Amino acid sequence: MTASILDGKALAAQIRSELAEKIRERTAAGVRPPGLGVILVGENPASQVYVRNKKKACEEIGIRSLSFDPPATITQADLLAKVHEWNADPAVDGILVQLPLPEHINSQAILEEINYKKDVDGFHPVNQGKLMTGLPGHVACTPLGVLVMLERSGVELKGKHAVIVGRSNIVGKPVAFLLLSRHCTVTICHSRTQDLPGVCRSADILVAAIGKAEMIRGDWVKPGAVVIDVGINSVPRDGKNKLVGDVAFAEAAERASLITPVPGGVGPMTIAMLLSNTVDSWTAATAPTP
Ligand code: NDP
Repeated sequence: MTASILDGKALAAQIRSELAEKIRERTAAGVRPPGLGVILVGENPASQVYVRNKKKACEEIGIRSLSFDPPATITQADLLAKVHEWNADPAVDGILVQLPLPEHINSQAILEEINYKKDVDGFHPVNQGKLMTGLPGHVACTPLGVLVMLERSGVELKGKHAVIVGRSNIVGKPVAFLLLSRHCTVTICHSRTQDLPGVCRSADILVAAIGKAEMIRGDWVKPGAVVIDVGINSVPRDGKNKLVGDVAFAEAAERASLITPVPGGVGPMTIAMLLSNTVDSWTAATAPTP
């Protein structure tokens, strides 16, 4: 292997401790603690694990988490009522709605009802529009995690060719706009892209956000490229389930200069950015009025 590993777990731990320090300092000076309202509808086991991890991460750094865990039969009106209640609550700095929601609920309508200043997931169209136009606002956690990883690792972005494989609204597109804002030349690929291996081979920075286990092979990677693997796929290996990314890690690491592992790469950064967005929201909400 020639690549160095971009250790998302260590970087996320460092960011969490910086945020904890900031919360300690400001609450010691009399500011109320930050609050995150978390909505978990129904009993999807994967969602329960994600929410538990997010709440634990909040508590560890001093963010108060509030819970609303209604059954899957909740009506759209009752769910909206909770969003409205937390929108109006000055002690709630961020509102997170764990997806997916049950089919009878219009997820987009719920997400759009969150006050965009409390939209710490960065999914509100106002925040997505701000990202596109270069205005400050909450950026979706996984794309922000990708950018922060690159910047904190000292990767030169200006003028580099970034190829993003995947064009979803929650990963691929926001990653592309973030890298564009840092002066990369950006190519976005998707399922209809022609000669995907050839396009990937032209990337100085290759970001995989596809959801297909180990699809990107080693010979798709330009020697010396930086490879960021957002994918999380569970595959059967040796009689057990194993988590792998969208990149064939061992092959790609032979050619890349820097590469993220799965697990331990982008995943931990996502939670760190949720905390960071919540702390930003709290900082703005509790700033002294001039
Ligand atoms: P989506 O399914 O919403 O999007 C996948 C994208 O990949 C689409 O744009 C699709 O193209 C493209 N794609 C699919 N097949 C191909 C192909 N054969 N060739 C080229 N492009 C293809 O997924 P998400 O963006 O939500 O997630 C992507 C991955 O990232 C998943 O593995 C997910 O689990 C992971 N993830 C990880 C997070 C983390 O915290 N680390 C957080 C969020 C997601 P098209 O638009 O044409 O259909």
